Amino acid sequence: MGTNTDELNNKYSRGNLLYEGKAKKIFNLKNRNDLVWVEYKDSLTAFNAQKRGSFLGKGALNRNLTALIYKYLGLKQIKHHLIASIESESLICHRVKIIPLEVVVRNRLAGSTAKKFKLNEGAPLKKPLVEFFYKSDELEDPFVSDDQALMLQIVETQEQLELIKAKALEVNKHLRDMFAAVGIELIDFKIEYGKNSQGELILADEITPDCCRLWDFKTGEKLDKDRFRRDLGNVEEKYLEVWNRLKDRWEKESI
Ligand code: UDP
Repeated sequence: MGTNTDELNNKYSRGNLLYEGKAKKIFNLKNRNDLVWVEYKDSLTAFNAQKRGSFLGKGALNRNLTALIYKYLGLKQIKHHLIASIESESLICHRVKIIPLEVVVRNRLAGSTAKKFKLNEGAPLKKPLVEFFYKSDELEDPFVSDDQALMLQIVETQEQLELIKAKALEVNKHLRDMFAAVGIELIDFKIEYGKNSQGELILADEITPDCCRLWDFKTGEKLDKDRFRRDLGNVEEKYLEVWNRLKDRWEKESI
């Protein structure tokens, strides 16, 4: 990142706004139909946007984190949609059709599933757990079983669900290593998949402290969006800490 920035800024020209979400804006590119321009915003939302906040530079920070993590995953042969970083808050990505499924992988129980079964936050799991949630603001992203996902035609076949599970577990393995190397335990995370023009399922969207639970290995301190959700304070400082630790360890590595 940072290198060839002027060259890249000239190569890609931002077109119309296609979609504005809670944390990102997606634009067309003027001369490339197969790509999109994704701009990360400074906003921070929780509980289906009922709680709102922001901090200056959050968009750039999450852009940088996503880019670094995708670069790492790419070197581990994980197929994803990212092509290049541009300006300070944006990424150029392959245009994919996002599958409206939030794929959550858990290494320990926390958040909604811990609460649902009245289990302790941080309860260990014998093996990572994959869960699916239907991406729908109107329905507040409900949990869906495999059969419900098929009934709703979120995906076409059980094989596709199995493929998504296997891919998500592979991503989990690499992310756990990447974070463990900087003293952070990956508790859980949410990812999304998109279909590219060849009909292939590839990893898409962000990977940031907004959609991961990250605990310091030594102190157990939370370094993720729970600081905002639960009013723990120092949100900006902890996001920055995650970035600094990952950057120092991984940015210059050929991994
Ligand atoms: N998550 C997310 N977007 C959502 C819901 C969850 O990125 O709409 C992430 C969340 O940050 C956590 C993981 O997915 O890292 C599991 O979230 P959980 O189901 O425990 O829900 P929560 O407690 O966040 O409501």
